Amino acid sequence: MASMSKPGPGPTCLGVVKHPAIGIRIPELLLPGILSAYRQRNVAGGLMLSFGRETAPEAVIAAAPGTWEITRGHTGTSIRKYQTMGAQEAERAGVTVEIEADHLIVIGSSTAAVQRIAGYHADSHISEEELESSLSYNMTAIDEAAEVGVVGCFTTDTSDLFWLEADSLSAAQVRRLFEERFEAADRRRILRRYRDGRTFRAPGGKRVSVTLSDTQARRLALKFQKSLEINARIYEYCQRKLGDRPFTFEISLDETADMTSPRETLFYLTEWKAMGLPCHYFAPNIGFGKRADFRGDLAKLETRVRQHHAVAQGVSRALLSIHSGSGTTPYSGKGRGTYGAILAGTGGDVKYKISGVYFELLMEMLAALPARSEGRRLYNRIFDEVLRLLKREVKQGGPLAQPLLVRQLEKYDRAIARDATKKRDPRAEFFRFNSYLALNIRDEDGERYFRDALVELLARDGEFRAEFDAEVTALTLRLIDGLHFENNLA
Ligand SMILES: [Zn+2]
Repeated sequence: MASMSKPGPGPTCLGVVKHPAIGIRIPELLLPGILSAYRQRNVAGGLMLSFGRETAPEAVIAAAPGTWEITRGHTGTSIRKYQTMGAQEAERAGVTVEIEADHLIVIGSSTAAVQRIAGYHADSHISEEELESSLSYNMTAIDEAAEVGVVGCFTTDTSDLFWLEADSLSAAQVRRLFEERFEAADRRRILRRYRDGRTFRAPGGKRVSVTLSDTQARRLALKFQKSLEINARIYEYCQRKLGDRPFTFEISLDETADMTSPRETLFYLTEWKAMGLPCHYFAPNIGFGKRADFRGDLAKLETRVRQHHAVAQGVSRALLSIHSGSGTTPYSGKGRGTYGAILAGTGGDVKYKISGVYFELLMEMLAALPARSEGRRLYNRIFDEVLRLLKREVKQGGPLAQPLLVRQLEKYDRAIARDATKKRDPRAEFFRFNSYLALNIRDEDGERYFRDALVELLARDGEFRAEFDAEVTALTLRLIDGLHFENNLA
């Protein structure tokens, strides 16, 4: 990336710089509060939506109900809409932002992508047809972003292309398959790259060493072969579509059942670099769960983050990007001490993503309104309809009916049987994990009536609007201050 002079207000490509990246699921409602926080702390930050789940090309958003899964483009906000609105509002607010095409997921279906959020990882591998159709869908999405013309960063997620069986093969099997699947010259080059251990500088004068045996290198070559190949195809497509316009590229490996090891980070980035390709941000799985505070060992988290950070910096000059950044409530960050561990491990040079928590905040605030108010009544309708949809899904054995959801629904039923005040609790787990579906519930005419009603409510009710903006700003400031993103271009 060429070094750039400090960009003015509006959309830009930030290059490699620490920053928060925030999902603007309902840009009409979220942009004022988020941009106000960015402005107050002099932050150049990201505005994003995930292409694999949250947003979709306009044609998908406008298609008749039932054409696509309810989970695809589930915010009801198209790529064109969030990118256009994000860029315009930022410019108006005098704030520098980076519009990001987040999480281009290469996977069999968007339902499978959503199931991963709930911790369910299908062990079947996607077929060649599914792969090609997923790729062509992603390319259509990239086309729309390129056309809008303000995108500054692309994030890919090819976790589903890992060949996980490689992890459990014997050394002899690994050797045999490595010889089958790689040319002799490539085999020699791959093994040579890891013959000597590598040592990297880490923040605070520490050092991180990573070594790979020949067997480990062969095993990872098998595991990541497809993912690397497809990632390169996506990178080249982005480059072709954007032409001379600068963009950064983020590679995420985080949506896996297991944590990423520093060896995997070293192997992936070293091979990527050997292909002559840049990686500006890298997202390993560091043990974070979606919509949950981190409750593991903070010292171990810090060590993991330090290892991945040092390798990513040492190999690609990339910053870590932390995914699944939302915690258990809009007020808990990612749990006590978590930001501190990330700061210590990275020296503060990090990118951090949150998205879902803003919608949870909106639901909590509506639930707290007086019983007869319009906002509270809207909340009740949303809650009841999401509950109905999920119960139907479980009864019919639909794709969302994962064991986690069944447990969450049973837990809710038990809670309200014991204590009637728990009825329509916005923190009921099943609701926290699935309330987002409300935005993509449609009537026969295709109207997203809950999404529309929320936008209308906040347009009419100036008092609630002001309170919501203030809470969105406060939530964003807790993230900015917690990770010291202030003045990040200074
Ligand atoms: Zn991710």
